[in-house]
Amino acid sequence: MNSPHTPTQPLVFESDPVAMRARVAEALRGGLRVGFVPTMGALHAGHDSLVARATGECDAVAVSIFVNPTQFGPREDYSRYPRTFEADCGRLRPLGVRWVFTPSVEGMYPAGDATRVHVAGPADRWEGAFRPGHFDGVATVVAKLLSAVPATKAYFGEKDWQQSAVIRRMAADLLLPTEIVVCPTVREADGLAMSSRNVYLSAPERSRAAAIARSLERGSELWDRGVEAGEIERAARESLVELGFEVDYWSIVCEDSLVPVVELPAAAGGVRPRIITACRLGSTRLIDNRGLSPR
Ligand code: AMP
Repeated sequence: MNSPHTPTQPLVFESDPVAMRARVAEALRGGLRVGFVPTMGALHAGHDSLVARATGECDAVAVSIFVNPTQFGPREDYSRYPRTFEADCGRLRPLGVRWVFTPSVEGMYPAGDATRVHVAGPADRWEGAFRPGHFDGVATVVAKLLSAVPATKAYFGEKDWQQSAVIRRMAADLLLPTEIVVCPTVREADGLAMSSRNVYLSAPERSRAAAIARSLERGSELWDRGVEAGEIERAARESLVELGFEVDYWSIVCEDSLVPVVELPAAAGGVRPRIITACRLGSTRLIDNRGLSPR
């Protein structure tokens, strides 16, 4: 007898949000726990880890593949974002996924579309400042995806830390019934966080890119030795600039509010600190982050 998520089951493809919701609703009525992994495709081992967590915790798993136009700025990489649908399906087949949700842009943004979800607070700084409108696009598409796939649990990566904080905030504020689960970052052997955008790096850029993860490790060591946050940040930015990066930000923040720890009152207790960074190498923008021990 096969378990509900046996790896041999064929993938079921669905592109219609209403039909997708009906499939999930039927599974939930039958008492199944439904897991959901939203993606933009170009799948790699980081995505696989979210799927593995979902299949481990749920009875039926949906993965969405949708390159969401509203989260890209006008000068960003929407049109050249890697689209590898056949390879993605080959990757998902052995992982025990039940449904692949592949909505069209028109299906997600019907004619006359006039609604955006705006999250303030954790969305205001960093990516929110460098990519105006980005988190409105993210929050809007995730709200729509969770409407089409009203899962028991939805899985997101720590890799996009600020995004995960924004989604947790939105889910709490909109009283969404889906539990948001945030999973650890999967890295290449040299520490570079896996990302669909790593394919943009030239060979020399690729070998330099691991310096970002090394800067996080070094920052964590200095933090553990009691070095002051501002000093750690300055040293990290300087070393990355010397290596040829343009540093949009490299900061130690409270991981929920995304407020820099240097702006917090000295007596602020209970802060969970995290380094977040975005760096550019040539035309490729890379983000990464690392949790720090509380002080
Ligand atoms: P994307 O397809 O880039 O929108 O990512 C889909 C999901 O996979 C998001 O929740 C990401 O945070 C997550 N993800 C992307 N890269 C990684 C990684 N290296 N490790 C873990 N999760 C990741």
